[in-house]
Amino acid sequence: MKANITLLPGDGIGPEIISETVTVLETIAAKYGHTFNFSERLMGGCSIDKFGSSLTDETLADCQSADAVLLGAVGGPKWDDPKAKDRPERGLLALRKGLGVFANLRPVKVHPALIDSSPLKPEKLKGVDILVIRELTGGLYFGWPKGRDIKDGRERAVDTLEYYDYEIRRVMELAFSLAKGRKKKVTSVDKANVLETSRLWRQIAVQVGAQNPDIELEHTLVDTASMRLITGPAWMDVIVTENMFGDILTDEASVLAGSMGMLPSASLGAGSVGLYEPIHGSAPDIAGKGIANPIGTILSSAMLLRHSLGLEVEAAAIENAVGETITAGARTADLGGKLTTKQMAAEIISRL
Ligand code: NAD
Repeated sequence: MKANITLLPGDGIGPEIISETVTVLETIAAKYGHTFNFSERLMGGCSIDKFGSSLTDETLADCQSADAVLLGAVGGPKWDDPKAKDRPERGLLALRKGLGVFANLRPVKVHPALIDSSPLKPEKLKGVDILVIRELTGGLYFGWPKGRDIKDGRERAVDTLEYYDYEIRRVMELAFSLAKGRKKKVTSVDKANVLETSRLWRQIAVQVGAQNPDIELEHTLVDTASMRLITGPAWMDVIVTENMFGDILTDEASVLAGSMGMLPSASLGAGSVGLYEPIHGSAPDIAGKGIANPIGTILSSAMLLRHSLGLEVEAAAIENAVGETITAGARTADLGGKLTTKQMAAEIISRL
């Protein structure tokens, strides 16, 4: 297979973890007879510095014409001024919108050898294997009107929570289709006791559930879901929720795996170019030290092979190599070890 992959290393530790992941993908290409062409672009703070824009039209066009996009992370204190006219995160939101990726998939699995790295009691973590699906291009982060003004002599801020039926239906259908290959259980998370958008969310969940009688559907309020993620995560399988609830719950779920550095994500749409990135940020506190854990990005590249290129065997090979590496005791600093980013990647590559 020949595939064009656009790389957006971004800021902070982004370039460090992306370069190691490219080595992993090149190893896979050599082993299985594929050709991956990489084209690297600036996005985020580095793009603001060079071009005055967090996402240029050229970079977006390059991503749109690729087979898949692999992103490191964006942001950092240098670009944190709330009054700045552009910010790294704006580029990320524009990229997601521009690619039409409406669903963010975050698998959370707890490796048995890392159970002690999590703050939760070991007995709560046994068997945890969750797929959180977050709606990515609607809801409170995009609704209009949005802004600040003075009303009746008082300073006011407004955000709008808005969902159309089709936005909910497409992410719900994706959740049910992915649940078929798993434990056949979907937990739809909403706040239907308070929010009108959540009542529409629940109504559509019921409709899609009726079309998929082989899948068990349950509804959970977001406050209950956040509690159950900590008190009994092992009973959950596929969780599907709207943009802001998903933003918060996915970070909470990441704690189960022991380190932010471990977890991958995929952002997908119907027929769109997939966007793959670790769930963590640019980690400015450790950037440039060569000690970042590359596993979240390496596992994101496995998702890229599976979801965008249909290379299931190759994806599983990377996931198995990561699992064996952890079992063998290899650890970066975030997991209490001493390996550098390069050494951890080399351990994984040696098992491919
Ligand atoms: P962060 O995820 O960057 O870091 C949180 C903590 O986890 C830090 O102590 C960091 O050192 C550690 N960490 C994160 N990834 C790691 C890895 N791979 N290996 C080892 N340790 C790791 O979150 P933050 O500090 O809140 O944010 C830093 C910047 O990243 C901010 O500018 C934020 O806006 C941005 N951010 C970007 C994204 C993204 O690009 N998708 C996501 C979240 C935050």
